Amino acid sequence: MLDKVVIANRGEIALRILRACKELGIKTVAVHSTADRDLKHVLLADESICIGKAPATESYLNIPRIIAAAEVTDAVAIHPGYGFLSENAEFSEIVEKSGFIFIGPKADTIRMMGDKVEAIKAMKKAGVPCVPGSDGPLGDDGQKNIQIAKRIGYPVIIKAAGGGGGRGMRVVRSESELLESIQLTRAEAGAAFNNDVVYMEKFLENPRHVEVQVLSDGQGNAIYLGERDCSMQRRHQKVVEEAPAPGITADMRRYIGERCTRACVEINYRGAGTFEFLYENGEFYFIEMNTRIQVEHPVTEMVTGIDLIKEQLRIAAGQPLSISQDEVKLTGHAIECRINAEDPERFIPSPGLVKRFHSPGGMGVRWDSHIYDGYTVPPYYDSMIGKLITYGENRDIAIARMRNALSELVIEGIKTNIPLQQMIMEDENFQHGGANIHYLEKKLDQQ
Ligand code: ADP
Repeated sequence: MLDKVVIANRGEIALRILRACKELGIKTVAVHSTADRDLKHVLLADESICIGKAPATESYLNIPRIIAAAEVTDAVAIHPGYGFLSENAEFSEIVEKSGFIFIGPKADTIRMMGDKVEAIKAMKKAGVPCVPGSDGPLGDDGQKNIQIAKRIGYPVIIKAAGGGGGRGMRVVRSESELLESIQLTRAEAGAAFNNDVVYMEKFLENPRHVEVQVLSDGQGNAIYLGERDCSMQRRHQKVVEEAPAPGITADMRRYIGERCTRACVEINYRGAGTFEFLYENGEFYFIEMNTRIQVEHPVTEMVTGIDLIKEQLRIAAGQPLSISQDEVKLTGHAIECRINAEDPERFIPSPGLVKRFHSPGGMGVRWDSHIYDGYTVPPYYDSMIGKLITYGENRDIAIARMRNALSELVIEGIKTNIPLQQMIMEDENFQHGGANIHYLEKKLDQQ
């Protein structure tokens, strides 16, 4: 096993990684900013090092400082968590060149998946279903682009190959807007991502977001751990996630899962990963692959009983997968509500002192969070302060437990989105299951 791991992240995911390391007997190094001295995992880690000032560019995104921390503590590996440097190919490369293990895929894989045109090409080759589209970058020939759009059929969406975080895309509903939209998206992409390659896809009007979790050891073995539905979104940010996705049959799961694992073997993928799909009228359409652990990984853990962070650590230590596909069994249903320090109506962040805190409990309730009584939420980072996860033998029980758990969760001193989550749990269409990615935003607009 790995001897000592640097946790290059903060908040709940840093604590989650620390817990997995401790279970496996791995020593931990917390690297943190000046604003994060009181983070729970910093207090619990074997060693901790302050790597810079509060702004992430000076600490959690500061590659030389993180490498230096690994050097002075004699660590062997670096876990990037999610966000920050987790999908930065240059970071992965520097980590490995400096003699450490990057807990994630090789730099080349991250680079390929970061370029959506390249990613789609690789997926198509492996037999993963993709959105009908331009099959590569759009050129400058207007007539040709008009023909491509005609073949795909309007509406289409112009997307930046280097885009991310829901930015760098434009929907086009008729031929008259096409060429100008391509030009605008290209110019914006060049400025924002330093890459002006754009491509075209069919725009799906009312899809759901369904994603497949995989584990692959980079030694020829890959398994899928079922899917998650993350359609409850606001501004492309997931708000509620669940596993399994309502209405996905065992046959559909096997169909899409096997294609994802085949792709993993073909590209020699190493680590945990997620294939994101839009799902409409019974069809899956690949949109991107995330080459890291995801925020919503716990719902998969609850229904499979597999600890994804421990598996990441085992794969990084060079061990072949310890679980075969036959051993992956899905039981029951799990739901995750992201708890954010924000105004539940205006969605503006609400950092500050947590004056009173009570965690929920009971059967099937999991609370992944770094906050405690007297903790101050700093204003510099993402507003997510915890994840409330409930499990039940079926979806109704998981929802009932979530309603209880939300009513027991007390966080005073700052505003949180608990009321929003309660509203979603009470919503009839959510309770029915299978709402599309626009549902939540439309509901909020009507209020
Ligand atoms: P990013 O990396 O910016 O998250 P994605 O390719 O994952 O980009 O797309 C982000 C979101 O944009 C999707 O979750 C979906 O809501 C929307 N989107 C992307 N492609 C399409 C499409 N072809 N049809 C409809 N919506 C799309």
